Amino acid sequence: MTVDPRTRAAILSEALPYFRRYHGKTVVVKYGGHAMGDPEGGKRFAEDIVLLKQVGVDPIVVHGGGPQIGQMLERLKIKSSFIDGLRVTDRETVEIVEMVLSGSINKQLVSAINSAGGYAIGLSGKDADLIHARRLRRTKVDPDSHIERVLDLGFVGEPQTINTTVLETLKNSQIIPVIAPIGVGADDETYNINADTAAGAIAGAVKATRFLLLTDVAGVLNKEKRLIPELGLGEAKRLIADGTIAGGMIPKIETCMEAIEAGVEAAVIVDGRVPHAVLLELFAEGGAGTLIRRD
Ligand code: ADP
Ligand code: MG
Repeated sequence: MTVDPRTRAAILSEALPYFRRYHGKTVVVKYGGHAMGDPEGGKRFAEDIVLLKQVGVDPIVVHGGGPQIGQMLERLKIKSSFIDGLRVTDRETVEIVEMVLSGSINKQLVSAINSAGGYAIGLSGKDADLIHARRLRRTKVDPDSHIERVLDLGFVGEPQTINTTVLETLKNSQIIPVIAPIGVGADDETYNINADTAAGAIAGAVKATRFLLLTDVAGVLNKEKRLIPELGLGEAKRLIADGTIAGGMIPKIETCMEAIEAGVEAAVIVDGRVPHAVLLELFAEGGAGTLIRRD
């Protein structure tokens, strides 16, 4: 797209109030495994993150990697199963999960940001004690006996404490943290954490001004598959209970609620397929996606 220079100058000038609004503020951006598939999109995402840093915003990037983990397990012929959208993660699988998340994907994203002119550093939840996790406890009521059983998901974790030391140190630097959602347990076990959940816990711990979750849908859709522009907590709970919100959208909504309760000003589920989705959301009036708000 070519824009004539006068229009370009006008656009930049119009962005000034937005730049000022977010100056010195922390924005946590979760980049979804599904939104990460397309290299052009990845390049534009990296450019947006560098632009944020350049105008004085402090971005913290947390990434997923479900599809990439799936491909690697397939290549290695390791069988994998899901219970309620969560990957059952045995000891062998968690090794691969860690390799893919904090190895290849994390470094790809770090390189993309650095190629766009930034200084990114890759971290996992193990670095500087960032994410302490415990085994995720999920129960399911057996439909026949009505007995509640504890599901064994293996090394699937949930964040227990976030140690923000490294993030506070980096906030006052040029460096952009890029975080893989791996947690460390009490006995140094490695935990596989849903990236949305990890990102929300981090956003809450640093009291981010904005928490953006980039995904591969327009936002939260209603029963008629139309975009819901704003969603309160009560309504969100109702839509989860009646099945309108399902699958990978559930941890997104839950983590947004927890982040808001922890002091994040606003959480937005954004269509990561739209070019420059991050800029559109932060620096243009009427951003796309679904804003999750308090009731
Ligand atoms: P990501 O890699 O971004 O975390 P997920 O697949 O985990 O992506 O979660 C997003 C998916 O949630 C959507 O692609 C969609 O299939 C599913 N989903 C379930 N209910 C809804 C809903 N009400 N609105 C939008 N997406 C929904
Ligand atoms: Mg997901």
